[in-house]
Amino acid sequence: MSILYKSTRSEDIKVTASQAILKGLAADGGLFVPTEIPTLKESLKELSAMSYQEVAYAVMKEYFTDFTEEELKNCIDKAYDAKFDTEVIAPITKVEGTYYLELFHGATIAFKDMALSILPHLLTTAAKKNQVKNDIVILTATSGDTGKAALAGFADVPGTKIIVFYPKGGVSPIQEKQMLTQKGNNVSVVGIHGNFDQAQTGVKMIFGDKELEVKMNQAGYQFSSANSINIGRLVPQVVYYVYAYARLLASGELAEGELMNVVVPTGNFGNILAAYYAKNMGLPIGKLICASNDNKVLYDFFTTGTYDKNRQFMLTVSPSMDILVSSNLERLIYKVAGADAKANCALMQSLSAEGKYDITLAMKAQLVDFYGNYASEEETLKTIADVYDNTGYIMDTHTAVAACVAKKYAAETADKTKMLIASTASPFKFTRSVMNAIDEKYDAMGDFELVDELSKIGNLEIPNAINEIRTAPILHDIVCDAEEMKATVEKILGI
Ligand SMILES: *Cc1c(COP(=O)(O)O)cnc(C)c1O
Repeated sequence: MSILYKSTRSEDIKVTASQAILKGLAADGGLFVPTEIPTLKESLKELSAMSYQEVAYAVMKEYFTDFTEEELKNCIDKAYDAKFDTEVIAPITKVEGTYYLELFHGATIAFKDMALSILPHLLTTAAKKNQVKNDIVILTATSGDTGKAALAGFADVPGTKIIVFYPKGGVSPIQEKQMLTQKGNNVSVVGIHGNFDQAQTGVKMIFGDKELEVKMNQAGYQFSSANSINIGRLVPQVVYYVYAYARLLASGELAEGELMNVVVPTGNFGNILAAYYAKNMGLPIGKLICASNDNKVLYDFFTTGTYDKNRQFMLTVSPSMDILVSSNLERLIYKVAGADAKANCALMQSLSAEGKYDITLAMKAQLVDFYGNYASEEETLKTIADVYDNTGYIMDTHTAVAACVAKKYAAETADKTKMLIASTASPFKFTRSVMNAIDEKYDAMGDFELVDELSKIGNLEIPNAINEIRTAPILHDIVCDAEEMKATVEKILGI
């Protein structure tokens, strides 16, 4: 069966998977969604005997129906290879009876690698299939992790260029150094004086700029997006939930058909939306537990039915979740509005005009499987310290937000369903915050001294991604105001 993709904001746009991947965002500013969520064709038992790559094919073939088997398998093989430091790609660690799905074993040690190692291959394959002659320019706003993972994925990929915008001062020192040391003839990194939402809004405006589109086309360029609004990122993220369930079934931790709750540290709502898609495909997922930091717009939304971004933007120890406008939520809103583009459009207009919207009671009723909560800074750091003291396991600050919310959920409800926590970054990516949480005495140490200390107390090998940047030279130094993003893009492309 072939699946088409339509925009969340109008009825008339319908494209193939490869076209949706190429475009990133629909021309009307909407997000592409599959006209229906397909079901898994393989039984859980069959899936439990599969490798990561095989599960990836089982899931992706249902969504990317205009790719041939050979094309898709080729993309999968190029993506999930020795760039990952373990053959299982996404290992599961059981700590205090909870499963941590470690999604940080790729090249840049954050979960963004799970999708961004395959996106360049999907995109270049899609360009070939659609006879695209232009070079693809990837424009990305990052709260820290997407940027590096996208840079690593696209560096020196023929026929592509990549420009990454990040909030100067809004990412961790290691995240910033990772980006600024990125090699490659086709990569640019730009810091903006502003926060992630401003970077993301700026990128969306550039995408929607018709004049610029014409100018780009004349110069032989067209934009695409590596942000999680691209369906080519969302679908590869569905894979690891299916894989996790299959592994837990294979090891006897779950019985066939037994429900599993998932807990996801959430920012742009991509990762948890992928879990929702997995559930809709037939995976036995119970609750979708959405964990926020002090930027708790989503917690408020799930409890009240009102999405309101009119509040102070907080910088936290989990910077990749410092987001007030969660782009991917629009896909869920559209779905619970009964796939009604008009209704969704009205809400999104209200969001851009007033910074808020209310969903109807009927829509809210369809969100029963979601549970939202949040962790304060203090609670997040205490979770890291407590779990380390009790078990020796060291988690990063984002995962800790989820672990804290998982505990709140367990304390608040009688639900005994087993929980899978999406562990989204290596503790080495946020070494200073993690080590300070464990003991304040570490505050006096330098960044790389802390890395060595973390390796020692956690009995963990230092990831390549960290060793590489110890001595790497800084290669990028562009900084601009949020209003200058378009001019900066034109300058970089020489148009
Ligand atoms: C991006 C990111 C998140 C948030 O994921 P979303 O898909 O944007 O909700 C959480 N943790 C880390 C480490 C991340 O890099």
